[in-house]
Amino acid sequence: MNEKILIVEDNPQNMRLMEMTLRSCRYTLLKAVDGEKALDVATREKPDLIIMDINIPKINGDEVTRRLRQMPEFSHTPIIALTAYAMKGDEEKFFEAGCDVYVSKPINTHELPKLIEETLLGRKQGRPRH
Ligand code: MN
Repeated sequence: MNEKILIVEDNPQNMRLMEMTLRSCRYTLLKAVDGEKALDVATREKPDLIIMDINIPKINGDEVTRRLRQMPEFSHTPIIALTAYAMKGDEEKFFEAGCDVYVSKPINTHELPKLIEETLLGRKQGRPRH
């Protein structure tokens, strides 16, 4: 099954790095560069997993996550928060917004595919979210 992954990232270099990292995987990749586009693409395409940069234009990633979680079709979609912040308080903020996993930049190209695979598997097995 070709799972759809939505990558929300405003930094072109990071976007390109993630695309290259995931290119060899079987996923269908969707992209959004700001919060409004993220909501737009998500509601149209119903991705199986979302990688959400928190610092994005127009609507912040945590607010986008909060809004998605209010929609029944996104109540259980895995969301991986991506951020440059490494402070403990922020981590809690992301989980409160509804993110499942938290990853701090720089992106680890070896770990990201594994993390996505595990997160998708966790969803299939019905592992409870944080
Ligand atoms: Mn950003």
